[in-house]
Amino acid sequence: MARPNVGVLALQGDVAEHIAALARVDAEGIPVKTVAHLERVDALVIPGGESTTVMKLIERFGLADTIRRRVAAGMALWGTCMGLIVAAHDVAGVDQATLDLLDVTVRRNAFGRQNESAEVDLAIPALGAAPFPAIFIRAPWIERVGPGVQALAKRDGHVVMVRQGRVLGTSFHPELSADGRVHRYFLSMLHGDQRIGKASTAA
Ligand code: GLN
Repeated sequence: MARPNVGVLALQGDVAEHIAALARVDAEGIPVKTVAHLERVDALVIPGGESTTVMKLIERFGLADTIRRRVAAGMALWGTCMGLIVAAHDVAGVDQATLDLLDVTVRRNAFGRQNESAEVDLAIPALGAAPFPAIFIRAPWIERVGPGVQALAKRDGHVVMVRQGRVLGTSFHPELSADGRVHRYFLSMLHGDQRIGKASTAA
């Protein structure tokens, strides 16, 4: 199979770490800054960073419509931490613009001050029996999971990994772990007919 071209939205955040992690699972990570770049990639990662800043930049560079159109047409998209917030339907307690690609409500910085950053052995049954070394940095949790969304992992009872069709969201940062299983899981989402979600629930 050809090496997939995976765009990494490169407006702000941990872009280089994602490109390096993609190389470790034999995918080509391509920085995406423009609509032209977006049209060329097979999938898109929105990395960790600061969600209000990145959403403003997405709007300023006119990328929102192209991202939404490509996802509606079946492009795989993965948001890590800030990227999950940007992909969510809404953000609890604040009026914050999002791309609304995943039918979930997230709460920013939800794990609290005591626990702003942590490495947690997370059970993720979809990845096999061995726990995943998940790195959380001022991470959001997912408070509401819509009917078309699968919850794939929980930390202390709070959902931290979800999938809806070809859209994946993680509260944590797999690009900072040596374990490539979440990246490989994402690459597996590029193939096969996985188009569930909004279009099918509207019927
Ligand atoms: N707390 C950040 C936000 O709400 C996300 C943190 C991260 O991506 N590491 O935008």
